[in-house]
Amino acid sequence: MNSEDAAGQLRSAGLRVTAPRLAVLASLAEGAHLSVETIAQGARARLGSLSLQAVYDNLDVLAAAGLVRRFEPAGHPARFELRVGDNHHHLVCRVCTAVYDVDCVIGARPCLSPSDDHGFVIDEAEVTFWGICADCQARAIADVGGGAGSGARADVNADARANADAGTAGDAGADGSAPAGARPRRAVPSVRES
Ligand SMILES: [Zn+2]
Ligand SMILES: [Zn+2]
Repeated sequence: MNSEDAAGQLRSAGLRVTAPRLAVLASLAEGAHLSVETIAQGARARLGSLSLQAVYDNLDVLAAAGLVRRFEPAGHPARFELRVGDNHHHLVCRVCTAVYDVDCVIGARPCLSPSDDHGFVIDEAEVTFWGICADCQARAIADVGGGAGSGARADVNADARANADAGTAGDAGADGSAPAGARPRRAVPSVRES
């Protein structure tokens, strides 16, 4: 997002255009599911200085205006992203806390129906899938010498992992990436010791 787009977004959300807000939005545009510390670093690279509290305050304002989404995996610090308004869900790795987006489980929001809605008009379902990402599975398997890997069982369908490099199954994964959706049987070369 360039700063003109960001300024336009702020105006159409009824917010004043300020340098810290532009810097926070620009920082958010550099990644997905960023922590407050990472956003602060990016904002400071643009502004020179900005307190962590100011970053929090600006994120609160931007989230309340619907320009930013806050995602808080249980037991972990909040993450922030610019992908808003689509009721997408998240996959979180229990080991490295990598976060991946998943589109609505069944199409449009709220995409899941409770067995009893208690008379609510439901407009959103927030689903967090917890499991072990493909990279951590490969590491765990390598660490135990190719065994099934204690603790490496994903609770969630790992096939749903977003952004995986597909199409290299059968290859040794010389670049360190594991084939999507498959349990690598061979240790990848770039595994760290113990
Ligand atoms: Zn992981
Ligand atoms: Zn997301």
